[in-house]
Amino acid sequence: MQTISYEYEGALYVNLTNRCDCSCVFCLRHNGHKGSIYADDLWLEHEPSREEALEDLLARELTKYRELVFCGFGEPMYRTEDIVWLVDELKKRVSGLPPVRINTNGHANLILGQDVTPRLQGRIDTLSISLNGSTPEEYCAVTRPRDGEKAWHAMLDFAGKAKEYVPNVVMTIVDKDQTPEAVERCRRITRDLGVKLRIRAYIPD
Ligand code: SF4
Repeated sequence: MQTISYEYEGALYVNLTNRCDCSCVFCLRHNGHKGSIYADDLWLEHEPSREEALEDLLARELTKYRELVFCGFGEPMYRTEDIVWLVDELKKRVSGLPPVRINTNGHANLILGQDVTPRLQGRIDTLSISLNGSTPEEYCAVTRPRDGEKAWHAMLDFAGKAKEYVPNVVMTIVDKDQTPEAVERCRRITRDLGVKLRIRAYIPD
């Protein structure tokens, strides 16, 4: 039995993949962890098919959640087309579906080789993109992306494009070890992109 969805603070989180093109220094997947503070068993032995995920979600009373969140134990947008399909199926079957968010590293266009942001229109209400640094150097030191600095530029480009299709685009940094200068640079980056900045509290694993 594997965890495809789990509840946390009134929201329903959906876990579709373990794949990721980053290796963040703080990632809970390191050190043999198979879960997080949110759920114990998040490492997927196999990726659920879209049909399996739909069945799992429909078994729940979806309207009781404040939000439906596609996240990981990996980068969910490897499965963008499956997310699109799932949201469409859920909207057809569930009246009053809660708002939908994707938590992402913002590399979808890079890893999928095409601009997928138009696919989010009318389906995704919030995109939460991990900014994780105020310069390419800081970013790469923390997230260790497969494609190096190209991933930083791809993430910023993705955020700028996504805001045309998604009503609420938020970039996040963790407050731990941030200098005021770094926070100010992040503020400038998000302001120039026309998206929001959220400074999250650090949660130790
Ligand atoms: S982007 Fe997320 S899943 Fe990927 S390595 Fe970083 S923290 Fe882990």
